[in-house]
Amino acid sequence: MVISAAPRIRRSWKHWLKARLAAALGRGTGQGIPVITLHTLACEDADAPSPAAFEWLVTTMQAHYTLVPVGELAQACAAGLARPPASITFDDGFEDCWSLALPVLNRLGARASFFICPDFAGGRIDITRNFAHYRGRRPMSPDQIRDLDAAGMEIGAHTLSHPLLSDLSPAGQTEEIVGSKHRLEDWLGKSVPSFAIPFGGRRSFDRTTLSIAAEHFKVCCTTLVGTNAPAAITTPDCAILHRLDMTSQDDGRDMLSKLRGDWNIYHSFPRARPKRFAAPVSH
Ligand SMILES: [Zn+2]
Repeated sequence: MVISAAPRIRRSWKHWLKARLAAALGRGTGQGIPVITLHTLACEDADAPSPAAFEWLVTTMQAHYTLVPVGELAQACAAGLARPPASITFDDGFEDCWSLALPVLNRLGARASFFICPDFAGGRIDITRNFAHYRGRRPMSPDQIRDLDAAGMEIGAHTLSHPLLSDLSPAGQTEEIVGSKHRLEDWLGKSVPSFAIPFGGRRSFDRTTLSIAAEHFKVCCTTLVGTNAPAAITTPDCAILHRLDMTSQDDGRDMLSKLRGDWNIYHSFPRARPKRFAAPVSH
C-alpha cells in the first residue's frame, strides 16, 4: 500500500508503543476483510478522528478496497471483486454522522453503515450519561437518519437504549435488540439487516445475544479486534464480525497497518467491563 500525505495526530505513549509492536510483530500475520468502527468525527475528548482524517481514511480505503455496507459484505465476497470488500461503520447515531460524515461520503461516492439506538435518536433517553467524553452530544433525529438512508447508507440496529446486554435476561435482551430493529424499520419502511452489539467487547454479550442476533439479522458486529476471514462473512448463518477502531491517535501509517491486519495480534487483548455503568437518563 502507498502511504500518501496523512493526517497529523497527537498520541499517548501507550498508543505509540501498541502501534510499533503491531507493526513489528503483526506485520504479515493478519489478513482478511477490515471493518472500521467510528462513533463521531467532532470530539477530541472521545479520541475521534477529525473530518480531514476521515476523508483521508475513506480515500485510502477506496484505493485498495471496494467499500460496501456490512450488510452487503457477503455478496461482495462472493462476487470475487478485483479489490476486496471492506466496510466503515459508525455506532450510536451522533448528529455529526449526518452533518460531517455524510457530506464526505457523498462527495467521495462511498457508502457506510450506521448503527442507531432509536430511544437516543428519538430523544427518549440520553445514552451519553455513560460516556463522559460524549456528554452533551446530540443524536441524529429520525429525519436525519432517513436522509442517510436516502443517500444509500445502511442503517443498522444498536439496541433501543445501549444497555450492557450481558446484564439482561433473555427477555430483556430480546426487547432491546428486536425492539430497535422494529423501530428503525418503522422509521425507514424497509428491512434492517445488520446489528452492532453495544460496547461490543467479550464481556458485553453472551450466547443469548448471539442467538437473538442470528435469528433476526444477517450480520452482527462486535468490537473484538481484527479483520475477518471471507468464510466467516459468507456463512449461511449470521456473520459475527470483528472490527478495527480508528481514532484520533492513528496516523496514516497506523491506519494502513490496522487495515492490513497487523493489529489482529491484539485480538485476545481483554477489555475492561464498562465502568460505572448506569441506566440511561430518560427525558
Ligand atoms: Zn454504541
